[in-house]
Amino acid sequence: MDFQLTAEEQAFRDEVRSFLDANLPDPVPQDDPAFLKEWNAKVREKRWIGFNWPVEWGGGGGDLMRQFVLKEEMSARRAPALGVDFMGLTWVGPAIITHGSDAQKAKHLEKILDGESYWCTGYSEPDVGSDLAALQCRAVLDGDEYVINGQKIWTTAAHISSDIFMLVRTDPDVAKWKGISCILLPMDSPGIEIQPIPNLSGKVSFNQVFFNDVRTPVSNRLGAEGEGWRVVMGALANERSGISEATEMQQHLDDIRELARNSTRNGHPALEDNGVCRRLADMEIRVEAMRLTGLRHLTDQLQGKRSGSETAINKLQRGILEFEMSELTLELLGSASQQLSQLTGDALGWHGTVIGGGSPNIQRNIIGERILGLPKD
Ligand SMILES: Cc1cc2nc3c(=O)[nH]c(=O)nc-3n(C[C@H](O)[C@H](O)[C@H](O)COP(=O)(O)OP(=O)(O)OC[C@H]3O[C@@H](n4cnc5c(N)ncnc54)[C@H](O)[C@@H]3O)c2cc1C
Repeated sequence: MDFQLTAEEQAFRDEVRSFLDANLPDPVPQDDPAFLKEWNAKVREKRWIGFNWPVEWGGGGGDLMRQFVLKEEMSARRAPALGVDFMGLTWVGPAIITHGSDAQKAKHLEKILDGESYWCTGYSEPDVGSDLAALQCRAVLDGDEYVINGQKIWTTAAHISSDIFMLVRTDPDVAKWKGISCILLPMDSPGIEIQPIPNLSGKVSFNQVFFNDVRTPVSNRLGAEGEGWRVVMGALANERSGISEATEMQQHLDDIRELARNSTRNGHPALEDNGVCRRLADMEIRVEAMRLTGLRHLTDQLQGKRSGSETAINKLQRGILEFEMSELTLELLGSASQQLSQLTGDALGWHGTVIGGGSPNIQRNIIGERILGLPKD
């Protein structure tokens, strides 16, 4: 691993910093729609949305190292996301670039970059979560169309999405992961019924989605028939490989340290409590280990080595840390009410990042079986 940037990479870092100095107010107005619209127009103009996507499809054509620099700088300044369509940008677009036809690329990629489409992801079903290959939602070929019947659940943002990136069973008679195909389906297709699932606070982020004789042209299949498993394994690796994760975790940790400074334990600042200090130090070490693991993964990618399973290491570590950080935050909040609203939100929001994209035990299985080569039973 080489920690030194080349002169060009350093110049790019300076360019990003100057851009942030000129365009990012302090504090960042994260919830101001006018600011976010202007921000997205500016970063789109720089071609920093889809930074490493091919130029011919509207991307920036950038290399991995500069993408890393860009994400690191953005994250360090708590800048808003680059682009609005999170799932479209993080895994749907990259999957279309890898497996899509030119017609699919022309149809979808620029829309994702411009925020004109909004994707959701249809993997989970009522009896299918971790054991994704057991999915039942069925697509039957009828002429040059598939007819889809079945149900998805926990579909984040389905109620506000224009399209769904979904897995269906096209062949029930082969090994379960071989009979799966990936479909790119408009959410306004006749026969789709969406039932929102309110969460504890009454807000809706999840949905159940029902498919009743939904017809879609074969040209909406991504990759060959029966190749859906391969398409989605790549997409899941992208979902799990947030390179700026360590920076985000460092920021959570900085917030908790600030909270500890402003709250008390046994009549003293919590930051002077040995138990709190020990927990913070332990977290600091693990965040640094995440940063180094992220850099090792980046080095592998730069050297053209195949990557996939390795992303499970940081995904697992992040899950454990998010949980422990939320526990410590809630303990400290007991005596620091002025910071309550923002930090409580962070502290109660860990379930999403921990379970979405594969639960901790599933990451342990991946690490055990695919990285360490341990036997399955
Ligand atoms: C915030 C959030 C957003 C989500 N968004 C989406 C979405 O947009 N689209 C979508 O399709 N799904 C979505 N999901 C669903 C998510 O993918 C599933 O919840 C996840 O895959 C786990 O499946 P499950 O809930 O059925 O739990 P299960 O698979 O039933 O797991 C239950 C428990 O058993 C453990 N377990 C299961 N199998 C094994 C095993 N082989 N070895 C060891 N332990 C095991 C798990 O680790 C877990 O602790 C979302 C979930 C969350 C929390």
